[in-house]
Amino acid sequence: MKKILEVSNLKKIYYTEKEEVLSLKDISFNVNEGEFISIIGPSGCGKSTILSILGGLLTPTSGNIALLNHYKISYMLQDDALLPFCTILDNCLLGLKIEGKLNKKNKDYVIHLLNTYGLGDFMNQYPENLSGGMRQRAALIRTLAVKPDLLLLDEPMSALDYQSRLSIGDDLYRIIKEEGKTAIMVTHDIGEAISMSDRILVLSKRPAIVKKEYDIVLENKSTPIQNRSDKNFSNYFQKIWGDLNEKN
Ligand code: ADP
Ligand code: MG
Repeated sequence: MKKILEVSNLKKIYYTEKEEVLSLKDISFNVNEGEFISIIGPSGCGKSTILSILGGLLTPTSGNIALLNHYKISYMLQDDALLPFCTILDNCLLGLKIEGKLNKKNKDYVIHLLNTYGLGDFMNQYPENLSGGMRQRAALIRTLAVKPDLLLLDEPMSALDYQSRLSIGDDLYRIIKEEGKTAIMVTHDIGEAISMSDRILVLSKRPAIVKKEYDIVLENKSTPIQNRSDKNFSNYFQKIWGDLNEKN
């Protein structure tokens, strides 16, 4: 296993006009190449703060992040954040434009992703004409367009109804695996975390520490939906449910 990211002793204090908010107390973990990791924890504990720091949108108060040389991180925001006045294709090209890397080869790669993942017929449509699930797929393709090694996903399915959440979970998982990416997903849904992850970090209430870490070993690892009926699923569910309902 090749370690691509090492997060050591992250601490984050937010300073507002009235007060200091200690969001992250002490967060350490490693990420290996090809892993799918979920971070789960109560609402407001600091999950999005961790991703924003990893994505370079926030600086930590202290602590260290070591990413392997030449490895690249790309952040998929909590809602799909597609621009309503741009077509799906233009939305997916946005990151490349911002990076000044919009050339024919990269554009062809994006069109290839759109075709491969069922959006070929929709690339000239506007986001409002797509279902929630299709928009999430488009947002993921936009994130993949800049060829990251590590994807950060902040509650990617939280805006969808239960039924769509299950099937979009399968879709996103398949795309991430087929494209050979490493991923860190934030969620507050225990089932989602177990069904998709190789490893789960359970955070405490704010100020967050990593209170438990689980390697998810299933009898018969398959698609996320199938994984929910695995023999070991409910065992992990009970344990994590217990962790999240402890008083600290
Ligand atoms: P989560 O994603 O786990 O729900 P967040 O990382 O968004 O939690 O927030 C963690 C804590 O930090 C919350 O208590 C939140 O109120 C606080 N917080 C987040 N952003 C800011 C900010 N810009 N200024 C002050 N406090 C913030
Ligand atoms: Mg959040």
